[in-house]
Amino acid sequence: MNEINKHIEWKKLGFKFFPTKYMFVATCSDGEWKTTGCVPFGNIEISPAAGVLNYGQGLFEGLKAYSGRDGHVYLFRPQKNADRIHNGCKRLCIPPLPQDLFMEAVTEVTKANKEFIPPYQEDSVAQGALYLRPVVWGTGPVLGVAPAPSYTFVTYACPVGPYFRSGFESIKLKITENYHRAASGGTGGVKAIGNYCIGMMPAKMAKSEGFQEILYLDAKDNKHIEEVGAANFFCIKGNKLYTPALDGCILPGVTRNSILHLAKNEFAMDVHEGSISVDDIFDCDEAFASGTAAVITPIGSISYQDKEIVMNNNEPGPISKKIYQKLLDIQHGIAEDKYNWRYVIE
Ligand SMILES: *Cc1c(COP(=O)(O)O)cnc(C)c1O
Repeated sequence: MNEINKHIEWKKLGFKFFPTKYMFVATCSDGEWKTTGCVPFGNIEISPAAGVLNYGQGLFEGLKAYSGRDGHVYLFRPQKNADRIHNGCKRLCIPPLPQDLFMEAVTEVTKANKEFIPPYQEDSVAQGALYLRPVVWGTGPVLGVAPAPSYTFVTYACPVGPYFRSGFESIKLKITENYHRAASGGTGGVKAIGNYCIGMMPAKMAKSEGFQEILYLDAKDNKHIEEVGAANFFCIKGNKLYTPALDGCILPGVTRNSILHLAKNEFAMDVHEGSISVDDIFDCDEAFASGTAAVITPIGSISYQDKEIVMNNNEPGPISKKIYQKLLDIQHGIAEDKYNWRYVIE
């Protein structure tokens, strides 16, 4: 065990920012990306006229490096994140970030910050990870509303503690009819930085009322379920698994895609991507949210107008647990990697 591992209490980290030693940098002007490589983590200098500061021209990604039981360090399907940021760039007029540059960044930054990767824990609920945060910004100065003349891509890393500090627990959600996360034709389907600030006020209000998060409805009919804060939504009825289809308002989560794949191929479930109305969730057996941070977060209850829908007695359901465990086992090198999802760093 190295020096840092002795001093950090991984379990107490939570999701607070904790700097590591190195970050990976690349820049782009005249449409051509050039790699700087890993440099010491630190502040960057930027013009107050930078496109990202004035018009929000930026995207982010989020993925984790896991310590496997077998001693390897793994990323989980990072090529999916590379494709997603590449596509997001097109929507925001950012010169598309080459997938191999993204792969180099996540690999190099994980290796350079190896000492910050939390060790493997037999108790999967106590497991931490090294969270990687790639971000691409329009950093060149621009006054008119137009794409910036130059861009910066940075990937930094931060160790994170276990998501569920007191076991795999269900959350309470509130459906809002007053705020929306995304609209048809907008940027809800890409990880645009500007998509996230707008959810802070509704989430804060929901928290003050005793809920953990907001469940968003579609902006057009105020009737169809979209996402849980910044996580994808799933519900289960019998052997059927439902999730909203990728219609441009739903972020194509890597966890979402993996769950659909496992449900169909490992658990022989009947998988449906389509629209889910508020009425549909009234008689479902289980529901959960998915995303890199928690993998799966079981949903215990959903409040809508003056009604409350309680699922599985407010406890994590058996199918949610089964899918969660399978995903964790693949991520930590325990289950067989049938679909080639693990990416070995070393
Ligand atoms: C990142 C994100 C997700 C989850 O995506 P993963 O790739 O599974 O981490 C879901 N919804 C929104 C809005 C997101 O930004």
